[in-house]
Amino acid sequence: MSDELILVVEDEEDIQELLEYALTNAGFRVDVTDRGEEALELVDENNPDLVVLDLMLPGLDGLEVCRRLKQNDRTRHLPVIILTAKGEEEDIIAGFNAGADDYVNKPFSPKVLLARVAAVLRRSADSRPDAEGAVAYGEMRLHPGRFEVHVDGQPVTLTHTEFRILQFLLSRPGWVFSRNQIVKAVHGDDYPVTGRSIDVQVASLRKKLGDAAQYITTIRGVGYKLGE
Ligand code: CA
Repeated sequence: MSDELILVVEDEEDIQELLEYALTNAGFRVDVTDRGEEALELVDENNPDLVVLDLMLPGLDGLEVCRRLKQNDRTRHLPVIILTAKGEEEDIIAGFNAGADDYVNKPFSPKVLLARVAAVLRRSADSRPDAEGAVAYGEMRLHPGRFEVHVDGQPVTLTHTEFRILQFLLSRPGWVFSRNQIVKAVHGDDYPVTGRSIDVQVASLRKKLGDAAQYITTIRGVGYKLGE
């Protein structure tokens, strides 16, 4: 049994019931709402561990709810799984750009949804800084203060730029970052690097990470993300 609290934001009654049933059965505590505004209030009041968020909601829509959660320092690390009805690529990319951690297409199987919930919860626990401020993902561990990266306990020597790119990707596992976002995060707005040079940096970073390179995923035509 888990005592983790999942907030379900869904306005279709049958899907809401299906989600509540599946999650409760899996041992989660569940809060349910059909309104985006109320979702934000419930996050404030009850501090859930994860949000399952429908995109098409009356009033404040799911993308806006996601954006507000991810823009707020207090809720930035709260994982969000979006439910997309159309399964269209643009919806999924918009969701990732709003900060979503994963997505599930409707109609979905409860088993798949539960697997995604478990995976996102695990990832989110991994990506929280430990007592020393280090961030881990899989067998990678990055220590911002010491400027160190270890893979499987072995130190890896990165350039400053490679380190900053990895740190940026690690800041939001599962989040798709465009090349421009990476350029800005790594060098600040004035640096004259292009998206192409980010590709070169990432290729070099992957080579140095060895087996852990598998965690850096190329999103064709967009950029990169950490995670499968
Ligand atoms: Ca809906």
